[in-house]
Amino acid sequence: MEEQRSINVWYVCGLSLCNFDCAYCASGQPVQGGGRTNDREWQTEEDPGRYERILDWIGCQPYRIGLRLQTIGEPFVSWDFLKGAVRISESPNIRFVELVTNGSLLRRRLPKFIDEHGADPGKFSLWVTYHHTEIPARELVDQVGFARDLGMEVVVNCLVFPDNTDELRQLAPLCAAQDIPLNVDIGQNFNEAYTGKPFIPVLDDKVVAVMRELDIDPQIQLTAIAAWAAPRGLQCSAGHDYVHITPGGDVFPCRAYRLGGKQTLLGSATDESFKLDLRQEEYGRCAIKNGCTCKEDFLHMRIARSPGRDHRSLGLGYPGTVPASENAAVTRKLQQIQGTRLVRVLNSMTDNGA
Ligand code: SF4
Ligand code: SF4
Repeated sequence: MEEQRSINVWYVCGLSLCNFDCAYCASGQPVQGGGRTNDREWQTEEDPGRYERILDWIGCQPYRIGLRLQTIGEPFVSWDFLKGAVRISESPNIRFVELVTNGSLLRRRLPKFIDEHGADPGKFSLWVTYHHTEIPARELVDQVGFARDLGMEVVVNCLVFPDNTDELRQLAPLCAAQDIPLNVDIGQNFNEAYTGKPFIPVLDDKVVAVMRELDIDPQIQLTAIAAWAAPRGLQCSAGHDYVHITPGGDVFPCRAYRLGGKQTLLGSATDESFKLDLRQEEYGRCAIKNGCTCKEDFLHMRIARSPGRDHRSLGLGYPGTVPASENAAVTRKLQQIQGTRLVRVLNSMTDNGA
């Protein structure tokens, strides 16, 4: 029945303050007028009220929702945000709420989050990204271990950049020693943080050799490259079992489709009467030429599926199988960015290249 369908929702709300200042921040740089702020919690005065209204809308949808509730900055700086997160987590249609955090405030904020505000640790997942310029690896893993011991599901996420392989080599055994899952992704060059490098700064860099040591998932990374370079025509379940909501409440099949404007808009989550009209067929063909760069989006491509994937996270992939025809289509796509060092290393790590 339609009411039983499980879907993923990635909602990025207007909370914009962050206590870190990463050069490669996807939310931009406050000094350059980017979306992230360093002098106020929310981007605009309307954002706190809109956040509550959008949560109300999510709580009324007739689906079993896995919610990645993201901010433009850091979620644990704001009690207004965290109180909303507790409220939506209590909604019967919510399977889990995943918060995306830099991990630096967990020891300070989680006890009050749970004891005073009533957060059920079993309902929350934490996706904790390691930012090598802002926090020592040991301190981060200590904070994440604290959250895990309170009963939260946790993943430490790290990004491979040209200048952080030593730090990542320290991080991996620290996570292993505490039995904390570690996810490794390829970093992206926002704000030209790595001057003169391409959007994927390690695309042709010698440091990609580190991926063999870090247990990176080659299938997902090859999906990331294909989604960035040439996703058009590939099969994807966005719009069937996944939607993205912007800070303003616009609902799209995925974040990359928001650039299509009204043509790809499904409706507004600030409109109480708007009901999600999801595609019945599981997969449709992607219509954009390039630039599907968010993991929450491209993990819904069929080529990222694998039978063993089933997590309370929008960052680790979903179960399913990949038909040979789709694999062949991706191989043709990857030929368009011809034998970069990164693609060669990843291919050598797949079953085909072993
Ligand atoms: S922690 Fe995240 S939001 Fe904050 S500056 Fe770093 S990348 Fe940006
Ligand atoms: S491949 Fe990316 S851009 Fe295309 S439909 Fe899927 S999520 Fe959207």
